[in-house]
Amino acid sequence: MRSQRILLVSLTILLLSSLLPAAQKPLFTLHEVDKGVWAAISPDRSKAGANAGFVIGESGVAVIDSFQNVGAARELLAAIRQRTNLPIRFLVNTHYHLDHMTGNGVFADAGAVILANRNVRAWAHTDNLKFFGPKPTAADRAWVKSLVLPSVTYRNGIDLYLGKRQLIVRHMPGHTGSDSIIVVPDANVVFTGDLLWGHHLPNLIDASTKPWIQTLDTLARRYPTATFVPGHGRISHRARLLAFRAYLVTLRRDIALGLKQGRSGDALVDAVRPQLAREYGTWGFFSYFVKPDILYTAEELEGKKKLPGGRVN
Ligand SMILES: [Zn+2]
Repeated sequence: MRSQRILLVSLTILLLSSLLPAAQKPLFTLHEVDKGVWAAISPDRSKAGANAGFVIGESGVAVIDSFQNVGAARELLAAIRQRTNLPIRFLVNTHYHLDHMTGNGVFADAGAVILANRNVRAWAHTDNLKFFGPKPTAADRAWVKSLVLPSVTYRNGIDLYLGKRQLIVRHMPGHTGSDSIIVVPDANVVFTGDLLWGHHLPNLIDASTKPWIQTLDTLARRYPTATFVPGHGRISHRARLLAFRAYLVTLRRDIALGLKQGRSGDALVDAVRPQLAREYGTWGFFSYFVKPDILYTAEELEGKKKLPGGRVN
């Protein structure tokens, strides 16, 4: 069944340890972080799979991301319709991972133009297959190929207008190579996608942590007082952004030391994990992502990490 398949995908990506069935979790809660700027925050293990949001301007609505579940996207559309009848002009995908674009078709059908960095379009139908394990089935392939792609792409960014309200969309490196932030300057709000995880360990499957740390420095410098809506986890401000930066710095430092001591694989994980647990053990997704975070970052530091689009870091 489709719903079971989507749940399986959810577990493949997040594999969270809670015993509550996903069906009992709300898909998301809505928070108006500034006038007409809404964050849809999904709890861990929700079928929605990620956060999303929308911005209401004078002449229309822009949506940020579409979850990993069509039902959640429909619920977000209904929530928008409870607040405004203005046309849904745009949907921006913050990156190509399927937990941020599975519901694209819902907003395309509602009339939105879907925009993203050009690598979202290039990678969505191929690199998303890795979330189905080493042997995706024909049905998995067909499902991934059915994801609705952005119809407008950009390399560095694009400015969108909803009447006077401006959205500044900018590509930034670090999490996948396809990521964008969406800034709403008149509200001092930045939707970061998965460039920020609010008190949660990140998924580093496609990450380049060195440029990612520079991206976080740029965000902290350019938007010192902003409200950040992360791709996963809690609504954040500068302190939580810097805490997330510190996690990546600590990870790189501890792993570099372990590699220097000749450790690899499980021995490296056993050496680094307790130090990380002391500082970050209370963060969401810790038990699920700590081991892959260590192993992916070790690959990156050794110059062996595979990245989407066939690149190597
Ligand atoms: Zn995500």
